Amino acid sequence: MPLRPTAEQAEYFNRACGTARKVWNWALDEWNRQHKAGLKPNAMALKKRFNTIKYNDPEWLDKNGQPWIKTIHRDAHAQPFEYLGRAWSQFFDAVKAGARMAPDDKQLRRSLRRQGVKLAYQPTFKRKHDGHDSFYIANDKFKVNGKAIRLPKVGNVAMTEALRFDGKILGATISRTADRWFVAIQVEVSDAQFYRRRTVYEINGIDLGVKSAATLSSGKAFDAPKPLKAALRRLKIRGRRISHKIESAKVTAGFSLSAPTPKGTRLPVSNNRKKSTMASARLHARITNIRADFTHKLTTQLCRENQAVVIEDLNVQGMLANGKLARAISDVGFGMFRSQVEYKAKRYGTRLIIADCWYPSSRLCSVCNWKNESLTLKDREWTCPQCGSHHDRDLNAAINLKRLATATALPVASPSSNGGATAGMVPVVVGKVTPVRYERGHRDTSGQEKNRAHVCAQF
Ligand SMILES: [Zn+2]
Repeated sequence: MPLRPTAEQAEYFNRACGTARKVWNWALDEWNRQHKAGLKPNAMALKKRFNTIKYNDPEWLDKNGQPWIKTIHRDAHAQPFEYLGRAWSQFFDAVKAGARMAPDDKQLRRSLRRQGVKLAYQPTFKRKHDGHDSFYIANDKFKVNGKAIRLPKVGNVAMTEALRFDGKILGATISRTADRWFVAIQVEVSDAQFYRRRTVYEINGIDLGVKSAATLSSGKAFDAPKPLKAALRRLKIRGRRISHKIESAKVTAGFSLSAPTPKGTRLPVSNNRKKSTMASARLHARITNIRADFTHKLTTQLCRENQAVVIEDLNVQGMLANGKLARAISDVGFGMFRSQVEYKAKRYGTRLIIADCWYPSSRLCSVCNWKNESLTLKDREWTCPQCGSHHDRDLNAAINLKRLATATALPVASPSSNGGATAGMVPVVVGKVTPVRYERGHRDTSGQEKNRAHVCAQF
């Protein structure tokens, strides 16, 4: 929820974010040092150690020799230890699950992702201009009262709307995007508030695409607002303006424009450059907002109006590493779509079926099951040579996906066992049936099963 802090409150938020960041970096540095020395670092011990130095170590004193950290509420500098501990255990869990440690080299990382290799990322140092700054406040330290939230050290801060859920408040995170402040309040809500009523009981296969963001097997299609496309031109102009300002700063500082500036050079940042950078960050934030708004409405509607939905298991990471498709795909926000639909399916008790990525939903004729081996990404329409049906690529794929949820589903061979595929027909009972199901019973989340057999690298 957006906040409307006064200038003074915003100034405190900035300092609290800076503190959280500095503590995180301190803890990570310490962790790495201990690890190198052959010790077994842990977050709680680090926190204890930090508590013994934070009021007297010169690095944590201001120029008058006072411990400035006393002016920041404790939660902002205690929480980074929890987060760091969690980040490491996530990393170790991923490694245990077979993920490969992400190499430092960016190029190598990209190409590994493109091959569909799952990577485990170690926690990294936070920089001042990473774009996302935040700090935490524990549940007993703040109070929500209508459209105001009472925070330690700064008092009442105006919110643009009241909290929509009742329930046990678990904590809050204050964060900044571009130059705006937000509060995210974690609330544990009752089942009655969590679950939603379904209004229509259809079953739909959903093909996610670039032309239409989503095509339903019922024939409905949803077009993305494509915010990036429209804003891209403006983003380009903004980027150019910033680079002009950097160039002129170089000239003023006496560097040549043709030769690379020596590493570690710090150019003075003009006020205009700061303004320009901020404007571009605002533009990025606006794009994200439009995109999130669209996927939220779409996923809510899908779960509200269907008793079962079938979607493809698109390997978003792999696709994003594929440069050409990346822009169009990130424009539609596939990753966001997937996580929202999973969460909302639970709320509406909608059965969510994730088709295995080898299921050739675009290639099969949804009428006679002939497999079109020569279909390329460019073909938007095709005619089945066997039964003569004319297909819209996306609608045909959506219908094939829907079949995985209904009695008309036909088992399809996995690509490894190409057994008996004669004359382009897909064998009906050869090979293993591959649809993967994440079953979610109504009002019961305990019965989730996850058994994805392999990582998909194919688009
Ligand atoms: Zn056909």
